[in-house]
Amino acid sequence: MQFCDLKKQYSLYKQEIRIEMDKVLDSAAFIGGPDIAEMEKELADFCGATYALGVSSGSDAIILSLLALGVKPGDEIIVPAFTFIATASMVSHIGAVPVFADVDPITFNITPESIEKNITSKTKGIIAVSLFGQCADFDAIDAKAREHGIFWIEDGAQSFGAVYKNKKSCAVADISTTSFFPAKPLGAYGDGGAVFTQNESHFHTLKLLRNHGQSKRYHHDMIGLNARLDTLQAVVIRVKLRHFADELKAREQAANYYSKNLKEMVETPVVLNGRQSVWAQYTIRLDRRDELKDVLNAQGIPTAVHYPMPLHTQSAFSKESLRHPVPVSEKLAARVMSLPMHPFLTKKDQDIVIEAVKNFFKS
Ligand SMILES: *Cc1c(COP(=O)(O)O)cnc(C)c1O
Repeated sequence: MQFCDLKKQYSLYKQEIRIEMDKVLDSAAFIGGPDIAEMEKELADFCGATYALGVSSGSDAIILSLLALGVKPGDEIIVPAFTFIATASMVSHIGAVPVFADVDPITFNITPESIEKNITSKTKGIIAVSLFGQCADFDAIDAKAREHGIFWIEDGAQSFGAVYKNKKSCAVADISTTSFFPAKPLGAYGDGGAVFTQNESHFHTLKLLRNHGQSKRYHHDMIGLNARLDTLQAVVIRVKLRHFADELKAREQAANYYSKNLKEMVETPVVLNGRQSVWAQYTIRLDRRDELKDVLNAQGIPTAVHYPMPLHTQSAFSKESLRHPVPVSEKLAARVMSLPMHPFLTKKDQDIVIEAVKNFFKS
């Protein structure tokens, strides 16, 4: 059993992918070209954003967004304590200070109350993560940002395609980011990502920043990065996008089947009304997490802990990043466990997982 079955996916889309990759190889045009622009249009159409730009990774997408929004060294950016490190480390990377807010015990996403507590005169913005595939509380976060005159970024690395009321992930925040890391719901065959915005001026700045601040060949209007997406990755994304809606349905089905059969034994994921998760992870909560993990792994069932340490306990961050306690993040880190989840998971595999969990609680 695979935690995330990329081999199966490749075997199904192999012909389409090889045809498109061969075209790029034959053209010897590896950077830029029409496939990038086409992919960007398709991504924007899929999520309802006005503008999309392919970039080199989900992490670079965050750096580009912070730079485009004018973040300077010493500025404070409020981020959740319970997320992948890149949400916060990209803030530190440009000399700004990530300030850790706590998250909701049910959705695992940053709360408006915790944002409020952490606002100071130095706060320039918020990064809300749509963790495990479910959108953060966009309305409440947007309201907080407007109230305080600051920006907000959606880190949608795990949520491209997710639904929030009548909108989608990556189409609401001032700037949104996603990742095409291979194991994300929409994954490339290497690193990649995208940024999204509704704002034309942000779009132009992001576009310059992604390519050395260059407006015309060898004319540089600002200090930028090399944060472009490879054309080979863009064609992989284009092929996978053709199948993405079907994959999301299959993920949803698998998640529902797990929940129906596990909910008496463990705390299963909750998707709030009006939202659809893309199930980047299927994450349960239980007190005996480490025990169950060992038992499942011994039976050949792969599991993962996203994430075992809340970010304020990572030695990479300075003490000034934690102003208020984050008890929910701490508790989640001790209790969460992700089960195998991908669009090609069979009922047979799921039954093996469910049976193993049942036996664990019987013993
Ligand atoms: C994966 C991930 C990132 C980073 O994306 P990369 O493409 O690996 O750089 C950032 N934030 C979150 C929440 C992620 O899950």
